[in-house]
Amino acid sequence: MKLKIRGLDFSYDSVKALESVSLEVNEGEILGVIGPNGSGKTTLLKCINLTLRPKAGVVLIGGEDVFNMGRRKIAREVAVVPQNSSISFPFTVLDIVLMGRIPHLSRLGREGERDLKTAEEAMRATDTLRFASRPIDGLSGGELQRVMIARALAQEPSILLLDEPTLHLDINHQLEILKLIRKLTGEKGLATIMVSHNLNLAARYSDKLLLLNSGRIYSVGSIEEVLTPENIKNTYKVEVDVRYHEATRSYNVIPIFPIDA
Ligand code: ADP
Repeated sequence: MKLKIRGLDFSYDSVKALESVSLEVNEGEILGVIGPNGSGKTTLLKCINLTLRPKAGVVLIGGEDVFNMGRRKIAREVAVVPQNSSISFPFTVLDIVLMGRIPHLSRLGREGERDLKTAEEAMRATDTLRFASRPIDGLSGGELQRVMIARALAQEPSILLLDEPTLHLDINHQLEILKLIRKLTGEKGLATIMVSHNLNLAARYSDKLLLLNSGRIYSVGSIEEVLTPENIKNTYKVEVDVRYHEATRSYNVIPIFPIDA
């Protein structure tokens, strides 16, 4: 289902964190959200599923306003893979993935056959089924991230929100996770929003980019339109070179030097 946001405003007390943010993400599409620290990226994700309540604006999922949806319905539509998935209790991988089914269970709910089957499918899709019974706190960073994506898939969402999905991963696992997100977004027709500090990976795996600066949209559009040296310089305050790379068929940002304020 399509995600459409119009005129979103959010403030933390006196700090204005988002101002007039509008965007659209279609089914099967990844919108990469970039921008310097404190530009409002995480706040934007939190406003979409009403973890934070926007002061103004509309969030539409498949044409339906999230403000009229109720918590359970929102949780069925929107899955979040958070930035720090530190879980200290030794749940098994299966326990964690089954948590994705909670919004679908009846009130007294224990999981039924269909929930187990959905969790299993999610684990198969993320190649985590083979360690379903392992404790979550014994996994590597890449494995843990795949499990968190499996939990999100088990929710059977239409919208997938990822906050820095490749943070703390080595380059091999960065590519593995982003390929997986790309594949699942296409196969399941998800509208995916991915926040990233890694401009090169965001450029390579997103269909379009949105550059935030001080809570406002500085630029939105195709990778070429958004990832210009001028835009990066004006927002990140860094002089950069942007080059097209033949092998990856994507753009690379090479930081040259920071600009003193
Ligand atoms: P980003 O994810 O781009 O780093 P955030 O969405 O985390 O940006 O933050 C946007 C702005 O809101 C920043 O100025 C930040 O300091 C402020 N902010 C974030 N969380 C809080 C909070 N819980 N209380 C007050 N201000 C906050």
